[in-house]
Parts: sequence; C-alpha cells; structure tokens
Amino acid sequence: MTVHLHPLLDNGIQPGTGISGGKLHCKCATDKVEVTLASDVVHNHACGCSKCWKPEGAVFAVIGVLPVANVSVTAHGEKLHIVDESATIQRHACKSCGVHLFGRIEKDHAFKGLDFVHVELSSEKGWQAPQFAAFVSSIIEQGYDPKGMDAVRARFKELGLESYDVLSPPLMDALATYTYAHSKH
Ligand SMILES: [Zn+2]
Ligand SMILES: [Zn+2]
Repeated sequence: MTVHLHPLLDNGIQPGTGISGGKLHCKCATDKVEVTLASDVVHNHACGCSKCWKPEGAVFAVIGVLPVANVSVTAHGEKLHIVDESATIQRHACKSCGVHLFGRIEKDHAFKGLDFVHVELSSEKGWQAPQFAAFVSSIIEQGYDPKGMDAVRARFKELGLESYDVLSPPLMDALATYTYAHSKH
C-alpha cells in the first residue's frame, strides 16, 4: 500500500532548477493573497509538526526558508492574520481560506531573520526540492497510527530523504550554537 505524504513527494521529487523567486497565492477563488519571494528557498523539507499548514489530505507539510528581506506581501495583505501570536514562528494565514502564506520569528532566536514558506503555493516550478523530513514522529500526536511509522520512514528513504524526529543535524547544530553563544560562560 502506498503511503501518502504530500503532493510534492507522492509522485517523486522534482529536482530544483535554481529558481530566482516567484509568487505564492492563497487558495481563495478571488482576491487571493499574494506574497512575492525574491529568491529560492533553502532547507526545504517535509515537516510533521502540528503547526505547519498542510494541504487537504497530506500527512506532512513541505516548508522552506528564505531571508525576511526577500518576502513581501504584494496583494490582499488585509486578509492576513497571525494564527498564534504566542508561537515562536508567527504564521501569517489567509483569514478566508486558512492557507499559511509565511511564518516569521519576531523574538530572539537562531532562525530569526528567516521566513518560512510553502513553495507549493507557487505556480512556478524549479524550487529547491525537499531535502529531509523533520518532526516525523509528531504525526502520531495528530492521530497517525503508530503502527504505520515504519512504512512512513521507509517511504521517505525510498524518496531519498532522511527522517528526523526533530530537525536535521545542521539545523540542530545551528540551534545549539545559538544557545551556547547566548548562555553565560
Ligand atoms: Zn485565501
Ligand atoms: Zn512544522
């Protein structure tokens, strides 16, 4: 039985072509919120956490980051609201359709200065391909059958992606480096 993870993964991963940016749109039929990205994303990955926006039927989100300066709201910003003000990543979503257009960190954090976006909201092709899967075990917290986890991890492996239950080693190292730099020693 095929494990369905996310539309960008299920039919095989398309390699990135070094795209220089593009536009994201929410899923409203009219008056779509538009966000313009002035570069490709990096660290693009599948995420199983409960907070990332997932398209209908997907078990994972696919999310990447780029510098805040490369992200601008170019249409219907009045429809955006912050889903959870208390979350580290403040996810700016469309009030009408619920799609998350970008996530931003306002407090001091290792990843402050980077916005989190879903490139599937763009009609352009060639964005960086998903590089790994993060927070894989977290899908159980949202009701995924624990017995299905071997198949989920096997499917990621088949797609060539490493599975992690938090973030990838380079990102965990970045978080730990930040913690050390901001601790008294
Ligand atoms: Zn919308
Ligand atoms: Zn997530």
